[in-house]
Amino acid sequence: MHLTTRQLFISHVVLLAGGGFQSALAKASSSTVSLSYIARLYSMGTSTSGKKVVMKNKWNTLEVETNSRRAWINGVMIWLHHPCRKSGSSWAVREVDFKKTIDPILRSYAYVPSKAPSVVVLDPGHGGRDSGAVGTRKVYEKKAVLSIANRVKGHLEARKIKVRMTRADDTYLTLKQRSDYAAKAGADLFVSIHADAAGAASANGIETFVLTAPGCDSSNHYGQAGNKSAGKGNTYDAANAILGFSIQSNLIKTAKRSDRGLRRARFAVLKQAPCPAALVECGFLSNPEEEALMIDANYREAVARGISNGIIGYITLVNRARK
Ligand SMILES: [Zn+2]
Repeated sequence: MHLTTRQLFISHVVLLAGGGFQSALAKASSSTVSLSYIARLYSMGTSTSGKKVVMKNKWNTLEVETNSRRAWINGVMIWLHHPCRKSGSSWAVREVDFKKTIDPILRSYAYVPSKAPSVVVLDPGHGGRDSGAVGTRKVYEKKAVLSIANRVKGHLEARKIKVRMTRADDTYLTLKQRSDYAAKAGADLFVSIHADAAGAASANGIETFVLTAPGCDSSNHYGQAGNKSAGKGNTYDAANAILGFSIQSNLIKTAKRSDRGLRRARFAVLKQAPCPAALVECGFLSNPEEEALMIDANYREAVARGISNGIIGYITLVNRARK
């Protein structure tokens, strides 16, 4: 009990130490944060567009869909843990979404870790006897994602960033072996690379996952019961959102596929990650058009450029915040 009080006290002091903005932020300690409060905080003008509340300043645009978990920052979709609901006379988002998604992305300098990332661990999904998704033309996820990961590695190494891969060939690894490898390699960032599959062939586009906040529902399992406990990866909640957003924004730009958004999931590799981590889904092997793209060298290259630009973007944010 004593320890909890002490920890709370310390985090409050840290929060207030940043000056005016931080003390204003500390007042947002109720369980919801109204959109009018957020607009004031960022000096954003507010308008509405259909179901969306649109808030805008010189640098950023934040759009929140009412009665929905969807929001957009600078045009890139993000999934909130809870829907934006009417609270009194104003629309409001839950505090967890403000503190772990919206504010970290809009004011990343206040949230990024102080240590500059030097080792990036790339994790091509599946391998060996685990093929992952297999398309109707027999395109294997395990092969496509290894090829993309190798290209990402090339781009990062060209920028003098140290890269380690959980697998460099068609090897089977358990999920635990992947996060253990990241810890042993001294990973400062962990990015798992996958391709999607869905029951409906029409499902298409790109999505990036980061770990769900403790106690909340994941994006694809809303309202379902399940283990909502915290994992090691939750230590990096804010940095996870910054990394995931950077990757998703860059990836939809280079791959030019539809934006399914930055989402939340409790994938084992994210839950056990020893550092900020994201899991990228580069397209749907169950969609004939995207299956064809996954064996197209130009598309793989575009995806790899998007992922590496996202990682470099995150590293740039950390380095800038340190100055
Ligand atoms: Zn996969």
